[in-house]
Amino acid sequence: MSTLEIKDLHVSVDTEEGAKEILRGVTLTINSGETHAIMGPNGSGKSTLAYSIAGHPKYTVTSGSVTLDGEDVLEMSVDERARAGLFLAMQYPVEVPGVTVSNFLRTAKTAVDGEAPKLRHWVKDVKDAMGNLRMDPAFAERNVNEGFSGGEKKRHEILQMELLKPKMAVLDETDSGLDVDALRVVSEGVNRVKEGTDVGVLLITHYTRILRYITPDHVHVFVDGRIAEQGGAELADRLEAEGYDRFLPAGAGA
Ligand code: ADP
Ligand code: MG
Ligand code: MG
Repeated sequence: MSTLEIKDLHVSVDTEEGAKEILRGVTLTINSGETHAIMGPNGSGKSTLAYSIAGHPKYTVTSGSVTLDGEDVLEMSVDERARAGLFLAMQYPVEVPGVTVSNFLRTAKTAVDGEAPKLRHWVKDVKDAMGNLRMDPAFAERNVNEGFSGGEKKRHEILQMELLKPKMAVLDETDSGLDVDALRVVSEGVNRVKEGTDVGVLLITHYTRILRYITPDHVHVFVDGRIAEQGGAELADRLEAEGYDRFLPAGAGA
């Protein structure tokens, strides 16, 4: 049983005009086996939370803490975070020239486990996971993120999650225009990992549609860098019906 604990987190981002405070006191605890959805209007700081947990250098934690089973995540290097069992989908968002998906996955698995996976099992695991995600085997020989469509990026992300078997996964949906088929495949992948392991999931999303496929145990509404409301899956239904208007200043629309 693992616990990711975020306590009174304040985060600033470096901008050309100087540091700007984005997260203004976020407190959240995720246990193994739980799925938490973070929802909120655009610009409310959802991705900033994900980047902060991932250790993105542009985001400065000015106070508060993030721990995994009591270990200080904010003190860890990006590699140490992965070895500790954190899966941060946005960790490698960029193209990796000359590195194939296949090599990338094996390197990542070796780094996380501290030893290279046994080749015969590994080849089968990759093949099975790709089959589950309905990915063309040729995909394994493409370079990471080079010319990937939104759907391919998401499948690649879930493929990593299936193979790396993290304790905690932070998935920023980035609302990247997945078509319904891709959305379903990705959601099924997350659900498969949830069924097969005791992973805790922090699912960040603007839209409620992915929550038709992945049922959250807890929903947190993010407004202006803070959690404004918390509830169960029914809160997502309410947001789908009503939008975020009641959380925004009168007249702001949305
Ligand atoms: P969300 O994911 O909820 O849409 P973000 O975390 O992306 O929100 O952004 C929150 C706020 O922080 C926005 O006002 C955004 O413009 C600002 N912000 C985020 N990242 C940066 C950055 N790298 N440089 C400047 N401003 C940023
Ligand atoms: Mg956004
Ligand atoms: Mg975002």
